[in-house]
Amino acid sequence: MAQHRPRIVVVGAGIIGSAITYNLAIQGADVLLLDKGHTAGSGVTGRAFGWINVINGTPGDQSYALWREAVAEYRALQVVLPTAFACARSGALLWKSTAEETETFAELHRHAGERVELLSRKTLQELEPRIRRAPDLAAFSPDDLALDPGQLAIDLVAAAVAAGGSTLFGATAYAIETANGKVSGLKVGHETIPADIVVMSAGPGIQELTDGLGIQTGLTTSPALLLRYGCNRPIISHILRGPRLEIRQATDGTLLVAKSYVANGDENLPKLIGETLLAVMKDELDLPAQVTLKSAEIGERPVFVDGLPRMGFLSEVENLYLAVGHPGVILAPLMGRVTAEEIMEVRGKNATLTPH
Ligand SMILES: Cc1cc2nc3c(=O)[nH]c(=O)nc-3n(C[C@H](O)[C@H](O)[C@H](O)COP(=O)(O)OP(=O)(O)OC[C@H]3O[C@@H](n4cnc5c(N)ncnc54)[C@H](O)[C@@H]3O)c2cc1C
Repeated sequence: MAQHRPRIVVVGAGIIGSAITYNLAIQGADVLLLDKGHTAGSGVTGRAFGWINVINGTPGDQSYALWREAVAEYRALQVVLPTAFACARSGALLWKSTAEETETFAELHRHAGERVELLSRKTLQELEPRIRRAPDLAAFSPDDLALDPGQLAIDLVAAAVAAGGSTLFGATAYAIETANGKVSGLKVGHETIPADIVVMSAGPGIQELTDGLGIQTGLTTSPALLLRYGCNRPIISHILRGPRLEIRQATDGTLLVAKSYVANGDENLPKLIGETLLAVMKDELDLPAQVTLKSAEIGERPVFVDGLPRMGFLSEVENLYLAVGHPGVILAPLMGRVTAEEIMEVRGKNATLTPH
């Protein structure tokens, strides 16, 4: 048992934990990824819209520079893991309530160094003929990507396993065990899985683990709604974001709409919002009559008040690493690489800790 024990245990196979595990595994680390779900991407990652972009950020903000770095990291990942991007689409079209606002918006991002073009109504209609009331001007962000985050997590885990990493699904971590101020293992059911280093990438589930250690991280959650509509023919080929709608179409035809969400105690609210948005979609787009709402799911996004992610070893317990933040899908490849580099450095220093 001792010689087989995993030295690095990653808790949470969302997009962030999957990216970390992939990066650790390809560097030859002894890594175990565990998740309470039965597949990677079954947490909030499976409810994400999947828009990889910088354009939704605010130029000048610290997060804007971070998103840019993260998007560049996606390009690098696409080169080494092309199959994971087989269904990705590129390009987003955005417009504001007035042409002046759209122009200002595009100019702001261009000035910040982003590749953004302004398109006339005619060009927009050529690109997306099903938009009913095309605006006079639209901003085109050609480098944005749309992908299925749950599938990407699955693909990252498959690549991690191929590189020698291991996984344990259907396993809930109840507590982090420590000895002499250091991580010693993870309590999973009635068992303890030994670990030299634990990476907490359990998204909103991190809070329970840190509470057990009396550590305050400041992590909170913010709900958002992912609506899926069944559709059997191609309607749009880019991500569209106007004042009333944020929508994209998956390769299987499903139309995906993301919406911020405030609960009011009515459990039918997500479905009601989904039906209301279907009317908006029909108003904005020339849709076939048989488009129907398939699901309306709330996802709790793990966030910090400053809008920045957290990545690093915690000072309270030695060898306990925290990796979480929003927007996690955009940030995952970057967080995965940086986390793995930091951990490999510490692992190198502690190489004598666990005999192999
Ligand atoms: C509607 C919507 C749209 C969004 N759109 C985008 C977008 O376009 N772009 C973007 O970047 N982000 C988007 N997000 C945010 C994005 O979904 C999250 O930032 C990201 O998925 C967080 O990933 P994660 O790996 O940290 O968390 P998760 O995906 O939740 O992964 C955590 C994993 O940990 C597991 N876990 C939890 N507790 C335990 C435990 N105790 N033991 C074992 N396993 C545990 C869970 O099962 C889960 O699989 C959106 C979110 C929503 C809701």
